[in-house]
Parts: sequence; structure tokens; C-alpha cells
Amino acid sequence: MQPYIICDNQMANNDDLFKKIIAHAKEYGYIFPSSEIYDGLSAVYDYGPYGCELKNNIRNYWWKSMVQMHENIVGIDSAIFMHPKVWKASGHVDAFNDPLIDNKDSKKRYRADVLVEDYLQKIEDKIEKEVEKASKRFEPFDEQMFRQTNGRVLEYKKKMDEVHTRFAACMEAGNWDDLKQLIVDLEIVCPISGSRNWTDVRQFNLMFATQMGSVADGADTVYLRPETAQGIFINFLNVQKTARMKIPFGIAQTGKAFRNEIVARQFIFRMKEFEQMEMQFFVRPGDELQWFDYWKQARIRWHESLGIGSDMYRYHDHEKLAHYANAATDIEFKFPFGFKELEGIHSRTDFDLKAHQQHSGKKMQYFDPETNESYVPYVIETSIGLDRMFLAILSKAYTEETLEDNSIRTVLKIPPVLAPVKVAVLPLVKKDGMPEKAREILNLLQCNFMCQYDEKDAIGRRYRRQDAIGTPFCITVDNETFENNTVTLRERDSMQQERISVNNIENKLFQLLKFKIQ
Ligand code: ATP
Repeated sequence: MQPYIICDNQMANNDDLFKKIIAHAKEYGYIFPSSEIYDGLSAVYDYGPYGCELKNNIRNYWWKSMVQMHENIVGIDSAIFMHPKVWKASGHVDAFNDPLIDNKDSKKRYRADVLVEDYLQKIEDKIEKEVEKASKRFEPFDEQMFRQTNGRVLEYKKKMDEVHTRFAACMEAGNWDDLKQLIVDLEIVCPISGSRNWTDVRQFNLMFATQMGSVADGADTVYLRPETAQGIFINFLNVQKTARMKIPFGIAQTGKAFRNEIVARQFIFRMKEFEQMEMQFFVRPGDELQWFDYWKQARIRWHESLGIGSDMYRYHDHEKLAHYANAATDIEFKFPFGFKELEGIHSRTDFDLKAHQQHSGKKMQYFDPETNESYVPYVIETSIGLDRMFLAILSKAYTEETLEDNSIRTVLKIPPVLAPVKVAVLPLVKKDGMPEKAREILNLLQCNFMCQYDEKDAIGRRYRRQDAIGTPFCITVDNETFENNTVTLRERDSMQQERISVNNIENKLFQLLKFKIQ
């Protein structure tokens, strides 16, 4: 008899859940703190054997949907180093800043805006808890209790609105004195020292600078790119001409980006070295808002195609737009610490191409054969952090289940198409020709699928090991294999097993692991 799941525990306490995910990621070779033997390096992480497979699979899933599935999108791989004038033109030298504040007692540095955002998140959590509690208590309906809960929720919402209004005004005006005053008025304390002894808020540029050239003296300052987008803009005409692209068309790129982020305990959500997957879509001026809507829909469909639940995503339309944008939205994901930005979709107008045209003195125009005119195209950008996407997948996948026999099963329910190992091939026992037969099957499959062979320990323990790393399918060779050339195929989430013919394994796996990108 198959064991069955009697409880799917997504854990009440989100802090606990997040800690468990981080510990699991380390224990099972997904993510290690960088330079761990030297006590680590803040906000920098290394990906282990399963982590780098998952990362490759996410990147590949994005690339396929963008480049392979769109005739009018091509990819590039531009260098991390670029001419320093690129960053002057893009505005990063002058304006890529975060407002920082130090706590004088703990000597810890924080992003002042994040302190306020965390405060707002806490109120939002309180509202959610009230509503959740209330939904359990109102059976039978109790009017007095309903009124009390409603009153509290309204109070919280009022507070949130007030804080929001003040916060938005400070950020918009770049008024850092008012931002500090807001932190003081909200009585926000340093999580380390517990004190409210804050310095003033100061601006801090996020770009990492280094010297290019053999002599430091006369050397030029170059920057590690803080986004991959500029590598696309400066190659716009090279790509358009060589790939013979006609507007509307897109250029996609994945690669490392670097930001000197000041962060507190956010794991791979906010890193100093991370990877982006960006696509810039060039359109006729005037058509940009229509394409903005198109990409807003297309990107949410891409996320939903992974089948982890549409309730995990929401849009956050920007009310206050960056100076270069005329529309912007974030796709937010429900991380264990709340809804946060996963991807940005921005209508960037012609700001970037015009800025490069001006700073380089080179024309960045496109001749449109349909209208017989030349113009600087407008741009829609879709920009997603690969590491953030990784965290979204991992945090939703992590599940603890209590089984019928009261044992706990820890399983990573990663969408099969993204899973690091697709199939484990297991001999039931280490004798009677089963290992040899299993290896034969392994040889057949490993050309097309990432496989693992395991013969150590009882079969139940081996299944659990595969569950813990998220392997969607296990194939087991047993006595019956020699009678009728069949094996069992076990599915990770349901733990159901079926017998299939050895001759049919490859086809079956192709069916089960097919890309279904919309
Ligand atoms: P945030 O507001 O969270 O700092 P952002 O608005 O600065 O993000 P963008 O500049 O729009 O982010 O970058 C596009 C995407 O790159 C983000 O949606 C996010 O997924 C990812 N990203 C940005 N900064 C980081 C980082 N420090 N670590 C990991 N991913 C990041």
C-alpha cells in the first residue's frame, strides 16, 4: 500500500519557514554562504551542485520562452565591463543611490527606505492575521467581535495610509531629513542594539568601481555593471543590422550584475553579486503603452505556466515613475517574508538610446521602411532576477508532510521542468543483476535527462533523499523487471507508482517533462 499524505504543513510561522529553507538549501547542496571557511561574505552566496542545475534550468526556461519562441527576439552576451561613459549617460553615476542610515550603538548600517517598508509590512501582516483569526471565529456570527476586528483593521489601514503618504513624499522629493524624522516618529529600533540612536540619512552610490589599466595613477575608473540592460542599449544598432531585425523587436540577455547593497538577512533575495534576465523590446514611438500591456500579460503567463499557483503573484503598478519611464509595474511574489518584487516591467521611453546618442555623438536611430522615417525607438523592458526567481521556486517548493505512519517527509515540489535531477534510477536491492540492469537504463536516459543512480540504503530512504532534492521521478528495477521488462515509475508529489515498460521510459519522461511555455 502507498503511504498517503495526511497533512501538508506549510508552517504557521514564516520566519521559521524561511530559516528551514535556508538550512535545507545548504544541507542539500543548493546554496552555500560564500567564503564560509572565512566566516562568509555578507550578501554573497555560492550555488552548489543542485543549485547550479536549478539556476541553469530557470535561465534556460526563460531563454526558451524569450528567444526560441519569439521570431523577433534575439540574444546577446555583452561584457560586464563597459566604457565609464555608459554609466554617466545612463544616469547611474549621478543617481544610482540608496538612502542609508547607521545605528550609532550597534554601528550597523541600514537602508532607510527599507526600515520604513519593513514597518509597513509588519502592519500589513497584522491586518492579515486579524482577518485570518476573524474568519475562524465568526462561526456562529458574533456581531460584537466582528465590530471589534473591523475597528482594529480600519485603525491599521489608517496608520498605513498615513505612513505611506509621508514616505512617498520624502522619497519623491529626496528629502532625507524628513525620512529620518519618519523613522524617529515611527519609533523604529535597530534590530541588533534595540536602540533608536540613528545618524542622519545619507546617499550612497551602489556601483562597485575599480581601475582599468596597469598604473593606478592615470587609470580610468570602470564599474562592474549594476544591470545588464545597458549592454543591450549600446549594441542596439549592431544587433539590429547584423540580425536584420525590424521594429518591433527585442534583445535578450542574461548575466551577472553587481550592486553594493546594504542588506539584512534576506538570503539570496538581495545580493551584491546576482544574475539578471533582461529583455529590451524596441517599438515605434506612440506604440509603447500597447506593448507595455502586452509584456505585462505575457510575463505573468510565463510565471503561471510553472503551475505553482496564480495566488502567489500580484502586480504592483508604480504610481511614482522614474524620470525615464511612462509606465511601470512590478510582478510581486509571495515570499515567506511577504509579497516582494520579483520582476520589473518598464516602459523606458527613448531615454536610454537618446542619452547614449547624446554622450557618444553616434546616431542611435532606426530607419523604418514602412513609414520611410528615422527615429529613436521607444523601449519596453522586462527585467527579472534569476536568484530571486530561484528563491521564489525554492520557497514555494519546500514542504513538510506528515504521512500516515506519522513520519515527516520533507520534499521540494519543484516544477518538474526546472528540477535539478529529473530522474533517479534505483535497483531495489544491490544483487540479482538489478544494479547492472539499472545502470543499463541509466545509460539510456542520461543523454537527454539529468539522472542519478543510487543503490545505497533501503529503497524508502533513497526515495526520501530524492524527495529532499526535488527529483520528480524515480525508476526502480525489481524482480518483475526480469520477468516482463517493466520498472516502477514513482511520482514525487503523490508518491504514486505505476509499472511501465523499459522500452517506454524515455518517451514517457519526454511527455512528463515537456516545456509548456505559453
Ligand atoms: P529592489 O527595489 O528590490 O531593489 P530594483 O527595483 O532596484 O529592485 P531593478 O533594478 O528593476 O530592481 O532590477 C530588476 C530585477 O533584478 C529585480 O526585479 C530583481 O528581481 C533583481 N534584482 C535587483 N537587485 C537585486 C539584488 N541586489 N539581488 C538579487 N536580485 C536583484
